[in-house]
Amino acid sequence: MFPAFSLHYARLPERFFERFDPVPVKAPELVAFNRPLAEELGFDIEAFDAGQAAAWFSGNSVPPGAEPLAMAYAGHQFGNFVPRLGDGRAVLLGEVTDRHGRLRDLHLKGAGRTPFSRGGDGRAPLGPVLREYLVSEAMHALGIPTTRALAAVTTGERVVRRVPEPGGVVTRVASSHIRVGTFQYFAARGDIEGVRELADHVIERHFPELSERPEGERYLGLLEAVQARQAALVARWMGVGFIHGVMNTDNTAVSGETIDFGPCAFMEAYDPRTVFSSIDEGRRYAYGNQPGIIQWNLARFAETLLPLIDTEQERAVERATQVIEAYPDQYGAEWLAVMRAKLGLAKHEEGDSELADSLLEALQAGRADFTLSFRLLADVAESAEARPALFELFERSEPLEAWLEQWQARLVREDAEPPTIAARMRAVNPLYIPRNHKVEEALSAAYEGDFAPFEALREVLARPFEEQPGRESYTLPAEPSEQVFRTFC
Ligand code: AMP
Ligand code: MG
Ligand code: MG
Repeated sequence: MFPAFSLHYARLPERFFERFDPVPVKAPELVAFNRPLAEELGFDIEAFDAGQAAAWFSGNSVPPGAEPLAMAYAGHQFGNFVPRLGDGRAVLLGEVTDRHGRLRDLHLKGAGRTPFSRGGDGRAPLGPVLREYLVSEAMHALGIPTTRALAAVTTGERVVRRVPEPGGVVTRVASSHIRVGTFQYFAARGDIEGVRELADHVIERHFPELSERPEGERYLGLLEAVQARQAALVARWMGVGFIHGVMNTDNTAVSGETIDFGPCAFMEAYDPRTVFSSIDEGRRYAYGNQPGIIQWNLARFAETLLPLIDTEQERAVERATQVIEAYPDQYGAEWLAVMRAKLGLAKHEEGDSELADSLLEALQAGRADFTLSFRLLADVAESAEARPALFELFERSEPLEAWLEQWQARLVREDAEPPTIAARMRAVNPLYIPRNHKVEEALSAAYEGDFAPFEALREVLARPFEEQPGRESYTLPAEPSEQVFRTFC
């Protein structure tokens, strides 16, 4: 029932990874399985056996054709360079070709100590496993490029963090697990051939159109292509209030997918300074810093490619710098596209960016819930009767009052019927996001052996734009007593 592996990363030079078999766990039990994704990947669901699946998705049994390995990578962690990180608790089983002909990595996270683990037990607590499952699948349903979650198992063992907790393993699916930090690993060793082989692998896998170009252009093209995907990605994060939490260069995937859901969280009351991660004391990865951090990470990526871009270093630096300097405008354009859609604007007008900015100022002044505010704006676009519900979200409403007037004047120039505008707004402004208190509630219940709240939340989040009767409680921001201020990975 396991789809056939077609191994690619395992065929790269041996110094790219360490071969390593997952370390068996005591009593694996399958607690979540993503059927639609499994079908997409070519699993034979009819032959599905939960016991066998638990063995596979815990790493207790290596599926036929897999060649498990831990990938080598480096990375800037909170700005400090670490030359050797690598998968310290994760294992790449190999790649499979999905039903659409796309190559997908299957990766077990929490699979035991690897040759790259220095500290750490190589394991993952169940809480972060389930959070990754819920949030990555929610991101997918929101239409945002992301790694997916195929399965979660409990291990029957305990891992000790602040207190002993049940252990878990999540099976992650990605178009690849190659990070900016993977490039940094070879560059930091002066292994230019390694960088070149990695770059060629990435081009073949993610940007085949570049392989036609002459050499120098090809690698500059790679930088541009990764930058374009990252600019689009972070603009979409911003559009749903997503805070990644640990945007280290080893957590920035060159595929442009959201990767590594650690202490990530969704913002409720709008404030660009919002941080949840317990390890981000300097607020480096606050909501509003995310676009700039991506540029910083891309500059680190560019540095690794310099010897491939031009043999003359000065020229290489000049050309790469030109690309990186174009980022603010590219990001700005992506962000404006996201915001126009959120505001129901199909036409492009000069003042649209300022209009979006002044709404954000009104949200901040009113400490209003980001997600619900946009969703209720769709109702207001349709009928003035919805205004009181919107105003209720704001502690201070004068800035909103003034803004609504500008926006409604702008909507008139759209030449579209109000219900049409409202419908297109509802198609991009979610009603359901993984609110932190709901995620915590699901995780706590799971720790008591009750997976019903996890299942319910997973179901709600699969259809974020559709009104789901009887599920109003999932749309509401946390009550003061329910608020989550800190998340842990
Ligand atoms: P992460 O925070 O998951 O992005 O991990 C950063 C680095 O620390 C990676 O190299 C991980 O493999 C490693 N790491 C994280 N948690 C553990 C753990 N429990 N045991 C060993 N290594 C770990
Ligand atoms: Mg090796
Ligand atoms: Mg990571």
